[in-house]
Amino acid sequence: MKKDTMTKTGKQRIVIAGGGTAGWMTAALLADTMGHVIDLTLVESDAIGTIGVGESTIPPMVLFNRLLDIPEADFMRASQATFKLGIMFENWKDVGEKYFHSFGTVGKDHWSAGFQHFWMHGLTKGHDQPFEEYCLELKAALAGKFAHLPDERLNYAYQLDSALYAKYLRKKAEAAGTTRIEGRIGRVELDSESGDIAALILDGDRRIEGDLFVDCTGFRALLIEGALHAGFDDWTHYLPCDSAIAIQTSSVRAPVPYTRAIAHDAGWQWRIPLQHRQGNGIVYCSRYLDKDTALERLLGSIEGDKLTEPNVIRYTTGVRRHQWLRNCVAIGLSGGFMEPLESTSIHLIQRAALKLMRMLPAGKVSPRDVAEFNEQQFTEMEQIRDFLILHYKATERRDSAFWRHCATMDIPDSLAQKIELFRETGRVFRKNDELFAETSWLQVMMGQGIVPQTYHPVAAKLRDEELERFLRSIREGVAKTVAGLPDHQSYIQRYCAAAEAQAA
Ligand code: FAD
Repeated sequence: MKKDTMTKTGKQRIVIAGGGTAGWMTAALLADTMGHVIDLTLVESDAIGTIGVGESTIPPMVLFNRLLDIPEADFMRASQATFKLGIMFENWKDVGEKYFHSFGTVGKDHWSAGFQHFWMHGLTKGHDQPFEEYCLELKAALAGKFAHLPDERLNYAYQLDSALYAKYLRKKAEAAGTTRIEGRIGRVELDSESGDIAALILDGDRRIEGDLFVDCTGFRALLIEGALHAGFDDWTHYLPCDSAIAIQTSSVRAPVPYTRAIAHDAGWQWRIPLQHRQGNGIVYCSRYLDKDTALERLLGSIEGDKLTEPNVIRYTTGVRRHQWLRNCVAIGLSGGFMEPLESTSIHLIQRAALKLMRMLPAGKVSPRDVAEFNEQQFTEMEQIRDFLILHYKATERRDSAFWRHCATMDIPDSLAQKIELFRETGRVFRKNDELFAETSWLQVMMGQGIVPQTYHPVAAKLRDEELERFLRSIREGVAKTVAGLPDHQSYIQRYCAAAEAQAA
């Protein structure tokens, strides 16, 4: 057997297994920030390929790219990216109804109470303009407009081709010293004394040794589960969809600055517009819809020409019980998956990679770091899980067995507390820096039809004219800013249009 000695410099050897979005995001970050003290190797197999989905993101990705000094227009050109201001949810509350979860804040909070209390008080005084009228990102999205505003007043994320994004990051990671090895990992070798991972054995018997291994092998989870048996917490009882089919089509219109999530009788469909094409997919629960019907439904609803064959994906929602075990850290789909409804997976990659960078062991792995990493990751995933369940649970749909199941299923106490508190008092609180802030919970709870029974009495302190002025000034400010924004497509054209050669 050939033995690869990865370093003669005494540097810590970090081996990343897998080169999807997770592998290359982790490599780019570690190489950029820690390249001087680590030897970084990434092993991937072109023959196996990546999952080939994951196109819609959330705002923290803007910061991730900035941390890596990635020029925004450059990366957007390279990954055919468009801007995203939120998600349009159609048919979730009930068939024919829609609402928007924007990345912005609705209205203006007062230190004593959130904006919703003033808005609800306004309703009793005849100010019946919808809640949405008070949100800049939402109104801009619906008007199909976008621009970077001074003071970063418009919160946004990207819709991108994740394969192209990974390719972009690969260049950056390799330039910063990452060694890429092409090959199929056939076996993971454990140290017979410690039980830690000692090496990856590639087909053809090449041996890649390391001190710390990052499992980015996707759903296969070759290291963390295959070799170390970390265990998996199955969350299917809360998030019952377990299948998806993805397909790419040519664009038939200018891209809108938002993702669409359109519910159907056993799940939902996505539409994600990029510069050169559109990503489409159907997510469904196989207990209520079979694959052939799901495919037929997807093909029957797409617009434009098919650019790819349908990509059928089965998954189990849940989390790996240990995201970091021994000398192995799971990042990406190997660490868990909670379905793509709020586009949180790439964000979780970013969070895990940043945590790993911050907790990178100086020598031996500290069990305390491991415990901290696992607790932080698990808490973050649980909080996101609750937010996702909300979309299924708080529905008025009873038109199919799937929705009747969702409406009556048990939910975690943490979510029940949030929903009932809001229903009774109109209040919502962000817990421990959770990803989704009050404004997200509010938009989705109201959008799904949860109506508070009361509001904070402090709102009634405003005299009628003050309330009128307060509400009007926000609405007018939003409308004026939106009127001055350029059209999303023309802004992309000027700022980051991808080269024709890349167009499909
Ligand atoms: P993969 O892309 O599967 O990469 C695994 C890597 O491991 C590949 O390089 C592969 O070649 C390598 N590998 C595996 N086995 C071996 C082996 N034996 N030897 C060598 N190499 C090996 N996320 C979002 O943020 N937004 C979205 O809109 C979104 N939509 C999604 C829709 C669906 C239906 C699904 C299932 C997921 C979605 N995600 C989304 C999640 C997103 O796709 C993933 O988080 C992201 O692509 C990262 O995947 P990964 O790198 O962990 O795994």
